[in-house]
Amino acid sequence: MIEITLLGTGSPIPDPNRAGPATLVRAGGHVFLVDCGRGVLQRAAAVGVGAGELSALLLTHLHSDHIGDLGDVLITRWISTFAPDPEPLPIIGPPGTAETVAATLKAFGHDIGYRIAHHADLNAPPAVEVHEYTEGPAWNCDGVSIQVAPTDHRPVAPTIGFRIESGTASVVLAGDTLPCPGLDELASGADALVHTVIRKDIVAKFSQQRLKDICEYHSSVEEAAATAARAGVGTLVMTHYVPALVPGQEEQWRALAAGEFGGRIELGADLHRVEVNARP
Ligand SMILES: [Zn+2]
Ligand SMILES: [Zn+2]
Repeated sequence: MIEITLLGTGSPIPDPNRAGPATLVRAGGHVFLVDCGRGVLQRAAAVGVGAGELSALLLTHLHSDHIGDLGDVLITRWISTFAPDPEPLPIIGPPGTAETVAATLKAFGHDIGYRIAHHADLNAPPAVEVHEYTEGPAWNCDGVSIQVAPTDHRPVAPTIGFRIESGTASVVLAGDTLPCPGLDELASGADALVHTVIRKDIVAKFSQQRLKDICEYHSSVEEAAATAARAGVGTLVMTHYVPALVPGQEEQWRALAAGEFGGRIELGADLHRVEVNARP
């Protein structure tokens, strides 16, 4: 069984009820954090997960809403890990990730310096181990494997999706993307697909062109559902709702997806949890 928890289902626009994009995946004893938007550690705390317990941080792309709390994850893990020789945090992301992580640590350079000067048992900056991928195998440990494939969020490039397999169960995390062959292949036959969605029928009517622009490089609810159908996945999990999903309108969003996809459809508030079992 693989367990998915939608830690943050929001978007770049601050929302009192939705944290920024982030998804927790528990598989085979490992805990993976996929993207780390605004408020991620508060939501993780709500399900009893601390930054020190993460097996790895996976980043689909380097848009600010998906990495807004990267500094918080790195620094909080560092100061809340009491082992004398802490394991470096593996960070798997697209090219550009190493530069982003290094710049984030630099931005917190003063903080890191204060803490090393103050605490006798802190004598090195946060330990990280960055791996950049655009495709191929990215992780294999204790029966859990992670595969990476390119997605299409241009002009944001490169962007990647992840397929996490544990035992016979598999979950794909698409991130922000248009329908594309890389994602179709990655998601083929998976038990669940976690996909970000926007309501193009609503966003296209906004008056500001800058807001309308987002339709160009995201999947609508219907497009994400069609991807799920093409790939033959068992469950579609929708997240990163744009505009914010108003409580009470869940069935409207579900109906749009159900028009394209006949499998199980999951959506909801932050901390919505989905158990994914291998299908017979
Ligand atoms: Zn994005
Ligand atoms: Zn986004």
